Amino acid sequence: MVTSDASQNTLLRGTPVVPGVAHGPALIARSEVSPDAVARFGDGGYADEEAALAAYDDAVAAVGDGFQRRADKASGAAAEVLTASAGLARDRGLRSAVRKHLRTGDDLLTSLHAAVEQFVGIFTGMGGLMAERVTDLQDIERRLVAHLVGEPEPGVPTPREPSILVAEDLAPADTAGLDPSVVLALVTERGGPTSHTAIIARQLAIPCVVGVAGAMAILGGTRLLVDGTAGTIEQEPDAVEADERVRADSEARAGLATWSGPGRTADGTPVKILANVADGESSRSAAEAPVEGVGLFRTELCFLNRKDEPSVEEQAEIYSRVLAPFAGKRYVVVRTLDAGSDKPVAFATHEGEENPALGVRGLRLSFTNPALLDRQLDGIALAAQRTGTETWVMAPMVATVAEAADFAAKVRDRGLKAGVMVEVPSAALLAHRMLEVVDFLSVGTNDLTQYTMAADRMATDLAHLTDPWQPAVLQLIAITAEAGRQAGKSVGICGEAAADPLLACALVGMGITSLSMAAAAVRPVGARLATVGMDACEDAAEAALAAADPMAGRAAVLEVLGG
Ligand code: PEP
Ligand code: MG
Repeated sequence: MVTSDASQNTLLRGTPVVPGVAHGPALIARSEVSPDAVARFGDGGYADEEAALAAYDDAVAAVGDGFQRRADKASGAAAEVLTASAGLARDRGLRSAVRKHLRTGDDLLTSLHAAVEQFVGIFTGMGGLMAERVTDLQDIERRLVAHLVGEPEPGVPTPREPSILVAEDLAPADTAGLDPSVVLALVTERGGPTSHTAIIARQLAIPCVVGVAGAMAILGGTRLLVDGTAGTIEQEPDAVEADERVRADSEARAGLATWSGPGRTADGTPVKILANVADGESSRSAAEAPVEGVGLFRTELCFLNRKDEPSVEEQAEIYSRVLAPFAGKRYVVVRTLDAGSDKPVAFATHEGEENPALGVRGLRLSFTNPALLDRQLDGIALAAQRTGTETWVMAPMVATVAEAADFAAKVRDRGLKAGVMVEVPSAALLAHRMLEVVDFLSVGTNDLTQYTMAADRMATDLAHLTDPWQPAVLQLIAITAEAGRQAGKSVGICGEAAADPLLACALVGMGITSLSMAAAAVRPVGARLATVGMDACEDAAEAALAAADPMAGRAAVLEVLGG
């Protein structure tokens, strides 16, 4: 029951990641199996090691099938995440580790935990995206334990009425199975703007606030008013006023859905609105959106499951599928392999690095293996020729002007427009010199934030640092944009920051000329930009740069641009 205790009205704040206002009861997702059930289960009473392993196999089958069923109902990134979790649950290596522990005389739950810990250690050591899989693995362990002890799987309860889901942090498999018709908003205590929760919420367009201190103290059933633009959660608000806020927001959002481009500020300054794509399918659907092209084609995502490098011809076919939907008046920016760190590609990534995010990733792979880059550029050039699509090519993880110059020479040799990503602070600081040797720059705010703030983009405990609104990150973007202005060359944003309608306006005010984002964000960003003049964008830029921290920056820009 909800009381009228003063604490109920406390306003909680976090990092807003998906705009939108929602009002409804809190549904709390608990992540643990009940300790009583585990205690009752004890050693399981199995006759022998084989009987215990058979029980493990049954639990694996149930958990794996559960993931697969949800994957079959989902699509895109959600389906991929769920399929990967099904595969991880059924992993033979994990089973062998469980059996090994059973053989030493450990009971089943102890063996399972020891096996999972062993893999957690390995994944953590690998860092990046593999470290992110630790959450998946721990989620799988909880589900297996639940099956063994005869409890429902922990995680997201199925809402019986439209609700606001509150969790400590959601496992990728939880977020991927969400039904936007009953989940009005997402609030998590941990997690940052680049967490899985944020990415999936953005794809499903569910208002979302992450990194909310105190969220798990909210009582189930408490009415909440979540504002995914301001990053606020009000408890037990005035019901009439709250419903009015939701109505006004839905009306505004319905207006957004009709935005049809092209990207312009209210007073007519053109800003290219572009899409981020990963393969032929996402490119075809992005081509239906009001975009002027693709600002980031992440080529490495085509090869995450490949053991061997595809031939130049096969690469040309894969790239053609992405380029073809944009043939005609639009263009595609292809990024060369960003293998390594959070995106391991078997045929390219260096194994066993101490610190993969600072290691041989992206363009650095070509230092010892230039032929890998040459073959990829040949494949891209062939695809550009065959489709007739205007093709720009950029390199990830560029740190020096010499790297940019070498890369640009190779790209231009093939008749294509050459650029580099600004993801390393050194590239931003020397943007003006980079622009002497390349045709364009594209700021990867996800990595630029990680490297500027020295905070792992996957670390859920560092959400306040891995936020592109950090003034230091914005300062580097402003330096890069100003260099572009002076050189008269295009400087875009292709990290998650471009998908934030409020921040997008401030970035344009700094002189950014294009914004590339997940297709779902195109209309909200384009429509917001169309409501503000360039002067207001410049004021917003100034306010964001002068702010003490991200929260103050958002508040100051909201003040300048109006709710
Ligand atoms: C970025 O770092 O902002 C970026 C766009 O690249 P990725 O997210 O693929 O590392
Ligand atoms: Mg990057």
